Amino acid sequence: MKKIAIDGPSGAGKSTLSKALAKKLGYVYVDTGAMYRVIGLYILRRGVDPHDEKAVENELPDIKMEIKYVDGTQNMFLNGENVSGLIRTNEVSKYASVTSALPPVRAFLLNAQRDMAKTNNVIMDGRDIGTVIFPDADVKFFVTVSPDARAERRYAELLARGEQTTLDEVKRTMAERDKNDSTRAIAPAIPAEDAVMLDNSGELEQTIAYAMKIIEEKIK
Ligand code: C5P
Repeated sequence: MKKIAIDGPSGAGKSTLSKALAKKLGYVYVDTGAMYRVIGLYILRRGVDPHDEKAVENELPDIKMEIKYVDGTQNMFLNGENVSGLIRTNEVSKYASVTSALPPVRAFLLNAQRDMAKTNNVIMDGRDIGTVIFPDADVKFFVTVSPDARAERRYAELLARGEQTTLDEVKRTMAERDKNDSTRAIAPAIPAEDAVMLDNSGELEQTIAYAMKIIEEKIK
């Protein structure tokens, strides 16, 4: 089975890019951020302090997470409930960012992520796919984008979902999450040594074409 790792900060356009590549290649697209978001949502609902490692760890056995593909789109289920529409809010983003820095949370998701590549060719996007989950991935990309372009994309996404926010608020929370994600002790969002850097500030079609060229060189 083939594995393509796509890492990078939030709002870099990883998911749009990964979905497009998965479609071209006929691979399964796995959004690992959604898995961290489901945990964030659960901890938020339970009223548990997301910084309290022990308290969060105690909640994990009660989480049954399932991923189902509906018309090719990844849907997330939490204890039987489809929470796909509930995990994209700013509040859940914050909880996901904080709880994802806890070792028990990462351990909880590690095998689930590895298992998905046992039976499918996958394109997996996240923060540590090329460094921790699949150090042996066939192709590794690290996606970057200018800070302003990132914040504007995220802002447009949140508005489209009907969330009340401002561009400044989005910039501020993104900077906070970036700092959390790239400076944490475990699985920081940094490029693998053998990752190909992909600047996604320009036209998506160009990024896709460049990525496909690299994939074809490395896989075929
Ligand atoms: O990619 P997305 O923004 O949906 O991820 C939500 C949060 O989950 C991120 O802020 C990050 O802290 C965490 N995450 C992670 N490792 C991954 C994917 C996401 O720590 N592989």
